[in-house]
Amino acid sequence: MNPETTELLARRERVLSPSYRLFYEQPIHAVRAQGCWIEDADGQRYLDAYNNVPVAGHCHPRILAAMAQQGGVLNTHTRYLTELPVLLAERLLATLPEPLGKVVLTNSGSEANDLAIRISRLMTGQRGVIVTDCAYHGTSDLLQGMSPVTGLPLGPDVYAIQMPLVPVGPEQFAALVSGAIERMEADGVMPAALIVDTIFGSDGVIADPAGFLAGGVQAIRKAGGLFIADEVQPGFGRTGAGMWGFTRHGVVPDMVTTGKPMGNGQPVAALIMRDTLATEFSKIQRYFNTFGGSSVSCAAALATLDVIDDEGLIDNAARMGKRLMAGLSPLIAASPLLTDLRGAGLFIGVQTVSGEIAAAIVNALRRGGVLIGAAGRGNAALKIRPPLAISESETGQLLEAFARAVNEVQRSNK
Ligand code: PMP
Repeated sequence: MNPETTELLARRERVLSPSYRLFYEQPIHAVRAQGCWIEDADGQRYLDAYNNVPVAGHCHPRILAAMAQQGGVLNTHTRYLTELPVLLAERLLATLPEPLGKVVLTNSGSEANDLAIRISRLMTGQRGVIVTDCAYHGTSDLLQGMSPVTGLPLGPDVYAIQMPLVPVGPEQFAALVSGAIERMEADGVMPAALIVDTIFGSDGVIADPAGFLAGGVQAIRKAGGLFIADEVQPGFGRTGAGMWGFTRHGVVPDMVTTGKPMGNGQPVAALIMRDTLATEFSKIQRYFNTFGGSSVSCAAALATLDVIDDEGLIDNAARMGKRLMAGLSPLIAASPLLTDLRGAGLFIGVQTVSGEIAAAIVNALRRGGVLIGAAGRGNAALKIRPPLAISESETGQLLEAFARAVNEVQRSNK
């Protein structure tokens, strides 16, 4: 390892909480990034197909310029009357179906989800929340109890459904949600909400069949609960089928949360909800968030929306996603280590036979200059999420590196 990297690691261990974890057997000492690429301290470049924050590509010049320009004019909060949060809310709502009419701006997906759960409980007067069994929804105490992937116990009144990795239709998904409702009601708890990541990223990427979610949404509503679409991962065009992951399922959520890609790296996130929920909630509680909706964050989010439109990133996600799937499909058919290919647009999951194999492929790919991650039960699914701006030639490089990494792991596994 580069001596500078070794020294920085030691300094990090001295001062940063050990609860932080670095990725990969050999950590990436990142010093700069541009487009789909991250460069380390040795000048080695990595194709960043893990990171679903920089949708438009790292350090996008137009987004940076918007942030710098706004930072030199005014950077303040929502207690003054300023135009940017209004403009951002207008732009967001224009991408969402009708009953979703009010926006709360936050700094993180966790803050947005925390508020969504709070509102669902206040508005329904009930406590029960349904999540999937490998879900991740955020870092607050409340949300850790709704994020079974962390290995922590479920929080009070939280019930998990076991997400099938084989395709299920709306009826089967409805039956899973109804089963959780029956279990909670048997405990004397009534349902407040079903919250799911609409591409089930941390469950190992479960995209198909499009429409299956609708059964669960009907079931929760019939029982008096609300449906919260956690769009922190699939939102902002990643599925290649419009701005939001829920669209593929033909449902309209009561609340939508978004974050990660929203500012292409600048902390900005949002909860968007039905008008009536916002109105009723505001009669009970005030909400203020010092940095949520601050001017520079709004400028970053607005510029990100502009770049998504002007550079045709949603179409690109659909086209490059298809190319990736087409290139991955024969590799999966040919490898005894890979069992399934799932995904939509540029959110792709490859099921492997075990968490050890997935980790070995992730680390082999890292040595081959491509960054991906692992997720799902036992961390056995590979998670591939390049920037939506990925080019055809970069897609080709990703596929070649993937094939080499799988071969390497296959050989060493014999
Ligand atoms: N929901 C989902 C589906 C996520 O993946 C994450 C972050 N990994 C969050 C919520 C929380 O977002 P944040 O880290 O911005 O608080």
